[in-house]
Amino acid sequence: MNVYDVILRNGFIVTEKGVTKGNIVITNGKITKVTNREIKGSSKVDIDASSYYILPGLIDTHVHFNEPGRLEWEGFETGSKSLAAGGVTTFFDMPLNSYPPTINKEAYLLKNEIGMQKSITNFRLWGGVVPENIENLAELSSCGVIGFKAFMSSSGIEDFQSCNDIELLKAMEKISQLSAILAVHAESQAIVTYLTEKMKKNKMLSAESYAKSRPIESEIEAVDRILTYAALTNCKTHIVHVTSSKVVSKVLEAKQRGVNVTVETCPHYLSLTSKDLEEKGAIAKCAPPLRNNTEVEMLWDCLKRGEIDVIGSDHSPSPSSMKAGNIFEAWGGISGAQTSLNVLLEEGYWKRNVPLETIVKLTATNPAKRFRLYPAKGTIEVGSDADLTIIDLEKSFELKKEHLFYKHQQSPYIGKKFRGQVLYTFVNGDLVYQV
Ligand SMILES: [Zn+2]
Repeated sequence: MNVYDVILRNGFIVTEKGVTKGNIVITNGKITKVTNREIKGSSKVDIDASSYYILPGLIDTHVHFNEPGRLEWEGFETGSKSLAAGGVTTFFDMPLNSYPPTINKEAYLLKNEIGMQKSITNFRLWGGVVPENIENLAELSSCGVIGFKAFMSSSGIEDFQSCNDIELLKAMEKISQLSAILAVHAESQAIVTYLTEKMKKNKMLSAESYAKSRPIESEIEAVDRILTYAALTNCKTHIVHVTSSKVVSKVLEAKQRGVNVTVETCPHYLSLTSKDLEEKGAIAKCAPPLRNNTEVEMLWDCLKRGEIDVIGSDHSPSPSSMKAGNIFEAWGGISGAQTSLNVLLEEGYWKRNVPLETIVKLTATNPAKRFRLYPAKGTIEVGSDADLTIIDLEKSFELKKEHLFYKHQQSPYIGKKFRGQVLYTFVNGDLVYQV
């Protein structure tokens, strides 16, 4: 009799192509069978998935786990546990908010070693682009960074400086030569500085003022500029955390004229509004800020039309003490790593008829393809890595603080009711989370 590592029986198997009923067999960390024929054999783990959905494990392209250097903010252990509980099996950690920032080979090797010891999921590291490290980009690329990240406006942290336009152009030329990809935080430093100074001078320090200090125009201006530079330097570009359909349409136009660009948004821009920032305070503060309800709906329309490529959490936590004080001074960053799939199921699948295939495409298949991990990741096929999550689509629950695996159990979603619960998560065939 055949002995396997894992058998998942009779589940609804979801890929970007559709939903089929079938069985999955896992051996030595890989998917070795996907079939609707009965599996004869035994295994250490044998799950009757007949009323559950099996998805490719999510790939979170955008987290800040702050380790090493700011372990009191988050860390690989707590961060990866929370991801696994949210159905995520691979994450890409950003180069900043950890210390030293990932801007050279030494910093990369240090962080990578810690991640290898502590993470319970797969991960890759982003390399940073700062004004003084253009000559380090080649060594970072050889180390195996998933891509590079640059800021067009202040990053919010002293040890990771934003680039001016000439520095960006030089970095993009280099990244293009390396056949790598640049992720960009695109807000206009000029617009943000001008408006922030004006608000502070007039003692306008409310949540509403904060939102107004970083308007959509600031994103549009920066995105227009970076798209021009991407065309000029032939640099593969990925625009992170876009908040508005007006920005998405700029990216779409650029794609149509042949620019190699993709666009990411985050669950919070699809589910929270500036009203949440007013009511919940700094727990819902991020940059760019949350927008109004009309923008949220227009962003969903973009998503449904296939104009958004990737959804990343931009999980960027801090100790709660840093969330105090006026909204301009409080740490900007939403804790969302654990709840991305929950938000997309509740707000997308259930409320707005977004098909499961689309959710899989945005959270697994597209990230795998864009960052060259496909078809090992991002799909459910014979030969792919056994990175899977199993969900009960119908199960409702209310998110409580104690459900969160974060170092700091804070989230703008505490108290929210979600339909769709993660039951099991497998990473390379190992069961790393069970509800
Ligand atoms: Zn970020």
